[in-house]
Amino acid sequence: MTNVRLEDIKRRFNNVTAIEDISFEIPDGEFWVLVGPSGCGKSTILRTIAGLETATSGNLFIGDRLMNNIPARQRDVAMVFQNYALYPHMTVAQNIAFGLQMRKVDAKIIQERVINVARSLSLEHLLDRKPKQLSGGQQQRVALGRAIARQPQVFLLDEPLSNLDAQLRDDTRAELKQLHQNLAITTIYVTHDQVEAMTLADKIVVLNRGRIQQIGDPQSIYALPANQMVASFLGNPPMNILPAIYQYSGFNISGQLLEIPPDLQAKLPLSQGQSVDLGIRPEHIHIHQPQPQANQDDTVVNSSQLMVEVKVVEPLGRETLIRVSLPDSSALLNVQLGGGVRLRPGDRLTLQLDLNQLFIFDSTTGERIW
Ligand code: ATP
Repeated sequence: MTNVRLEDIKRRFNNVTAIEDISFEIPDGEFWVLVGPSGCGKSTILRTIAGLETATSGNLFIGDRLMNNIPARQRDVAMVFQNYALYPHMTVAQNIAFGLQMRKVDAKIIQERVINVARSLSLEHLLDRKPKQLSGGQQQRVALGRAIARQPQVFLLDEPLSNLDAQLRDDTRAELKQLHQNLAITTIYVTHDQVEAMTLADKIVVLNRGRIQQIGDPQSIYALPANQMVASFLGNPPMNILPAIYQYSGFNISGQLLEIPPDLQAKLPLSQGQSVDLGIRPEHIHIHQPQPQANQDDTVVNSSQLMVEVKVVEPLGRETLIRVSLPDSSALLNVQLGGGVRLRPGDRLTLQLDLNQLFIFDSTTGERIW
């Protein structure tokens, strides 16, 4: 069983605490993704697991074995970096075989493994080529193949797709997912790309400033983010955050009242005059009705509606993204509408917010309170 367990791992570099209070356990065979903005400590965690970095304190177990003082090469992990370095003078087959030859694996087994790995990564027809005769995506697959051929207990991947162009990244991401389904090797994958995190992960670990914000499966985290950072990080376009003041009848947002029905008012753990940040995803806002006259009084709104002005329209075929502003506010809201919506900058709209999908965050701590 190759579960990976981190217990209260901390790493300081002189005065900088890169990571702190890092504890989680990845069950054997699962695919976990560490995600978060630049500098949040993702690579430091991965490098600590690989043995390329030493924790200042805490314990790391791979299987049941304490790894704190075990050198990297004895950990039986394989790491693939963003800047994969293939040996330029070797063919694809030789590159994939190299790690096995170093370990003095039997030549027949090496040959079999190279063929199997090449087959699983669609590299069979490229085995005799040198790296410079390959595309970026093919080179990255060879780097993955070299790691897979070793049959490590744990796979560590540090932004392995970030050097690829968009189409290739999508394709390679899908291949990686399928590969993991076939091999079921415990995998830890670092990215700052939330689409990769959502699509690949059994579990996501969201990090910010060296600390874990939330751990969960992608859908649960998306549906119930623990705080504003997680809410804003997962989702594209991101969740809209609206500073507001609670009044018993609703929320005052830049002078407009977003009315709340009495049954919901009774449940909200808020006090009169409390400052909060409201969160609503772009797909949970709809057009109530087009405003027939541009000069209508901006302050009149009904129930869960807001009046806005269209600033930017982005038709994407299947859907239309619009950015709108509230009167007397420079903040822009993202709204995701169906395809074929005809709007222009300057149009005034009344938007309907789905109150079942409204989040409320403490404006000081960012923690979700509803
Ligand atoms: P990115 O997505 O930009 O690669 P990351 O989330 O992987 O970022 P880390 O590389 O783990 O972040 O860095 C976490 C923090 O630790 C950062 O503040 C970084 O500046 C700091 N750090 C990392 N390595 C060192 C080092 N060798 N010396 C000093 N500080 C370091």
